[in-house]
Amino acid sequence: MKGVTGVRSRRVRELLTNLGFIAPAVRGWRDQAACSGTNPEVFYPVGSGPEIAPRVAAAKQICAGCPVRQVCLADAMSWEDPALRWGVVGGLWAADRSELFENRRVNQIGEVA
Ligand code: SF4
Repeated sequence: MKGVTGVRSRRVRELLTNLGFIAPAVRGWRDQAACSGTNPEVFYPVGSGPEIAPRVAAAKQICAGCPVRQVCLADAMSWEDPALRWGVVGGLWAADRSELFENRRVNQIGEVA
């Protein structure tokens, strides 16, 4: 099973790289993260629907003041499996990041067609 996961992981990374989602070459950016020391549950709220909306908003509020938000988002987009997204990262909720991914994918298909 580990082999299948490894192959999928490699293919996801290839896809993300081909779409231009490249890990930023910024060393030590996590040291400047506004979420440093924050309980991870703030960014990965459990539940669904309207009840988690205030929690998502609270996490986004922290990200809004983060000096490394763009780098954080670029980093997540370079490795996150589109099928397994969850939580707030780089100021975006999982669905927002999926939309970003889909927009890039659709635009690239448009460029090839
Ligand atoms: S953008 Fe948000 S998740 Fe990323 S480092 Fe900053 S506070 Fe943390």
